[in-house]
Amino acid sequence: MYHTEAIVLSRFELGEADRVLTLLTPRDGKLKAIAKGVRKPRSRLGGAVEPFAELELVLVRARTFDVITQVAVGHAWLSLRERLESTATAWYLAELAERAVEERAYAYPVYALLRRAYQLLDDGMAPGRVARWFEFGLADALGMRPEVERCVECDRVLEVDEEFRWVPLLGGTMCQRHPPPPSEQTPLSLDALKLLRAYRRLDIEAIAGLRLPAPVEAEVESALRRFIRNVLEREARSLAFLDEVRAHVPA
Ligand SMILES: [Zn+2]
Repeated sequence: MYHTEAIVLSRFELGEADRVLTLLTPRDGKLKAIAKGVRKPRSRLGGAVEPFAELELVLVRARTFDVITQVAVGHAWLSLRERLESTATAWYLAELAERAVEERAYAYPVYALLRRAYQLLDDGMAPGRVARWFEFGLADALGMRPEVERCVECDRVLEVDEEFRWVPLLGGTMCQRHPPPPSEQTPLSLDALKLLRAYRRLDIEAIAGLRLPAPVEAEVESALRRFIRNVLEREARSLAFLDEVRAHVPA
């Protein structure tokens, strides 16, 4: 038997009344646990085991799935769930965390990052800013922080009066002195570079206060999404839903 904090990343129904949860924990990384009888009307575990909730759990080790025996809700983050774009963003971040973390491995940095991101979404911060901050932080936690200060090829500090390219496969920004690499690469505007540097240098409260033209935010969104796709080696499935939701949210 053991005790842990955990954030619910995803879940699926099992049999008549059970539910299997994929959990992110600080010390044991990702793990699957079963909440038995949770779908019965009078279950003690009941509504607590919802996606994005932070829980205090007591579990019993078992061969396939560990069994949840006690649940207390640490943070339900109910405000997050009231807005569709925040909810869709929470799914996206959960998927990135699930992909990034190994089973039964220390994962405190990613846990702390996800916890903070959900708190920020719950506080009403713009979901796009939270998502970019999370993507940047996740790459950093995995030891693959995007290079936005120097050229990834010649290591020269980039100056504001030159032109740059964004090359996710090589880890970030590249100057114009080199032939374009065959991998995916796009021009990067100076404003987008500055915003990427803001994500690198500033805390999220300062970033939340920035007033930014929509095209610059869109350029950085595209750049960081491609970077993360490269880090995690595939596209997140939940992005399609998130983009559909955003297409219907008035700007
Ligand atoms: Zn260079």
